[in-house]
Amino acid sequence: MRAPRAQCPACGRSVALMPTRRAGYGVVHDHKKDRRSLSLCEGSMRQLALSESLAWQDALPGVAEGHEPAATLF
Ligand SMILES: [Zn+2]
Repeated sequence: MRAPRAQCPACGRSVALMPTRRAGYGVVHDHKKDRRSLSLCEGSMRQLALSESLAWQDALPGVAEGHEPAATLF
């Protein structure tokens, strides 16, 4: 899967854009401002136009790009 990357409007980091229903737009993937931060960057889940993306990144074979373990109840 090709993942577009864009600059986060809040922290300026290069983040992955996830597909959304809105044509031509992507949603900023959940991310933190820095690795040790406990809270997500406020730019997470914000919609950006794909035309603002900086680059397209090909996922490495066998590596799921940007997939964190799904939260489960147990
Ligand atoms: Zn951010």
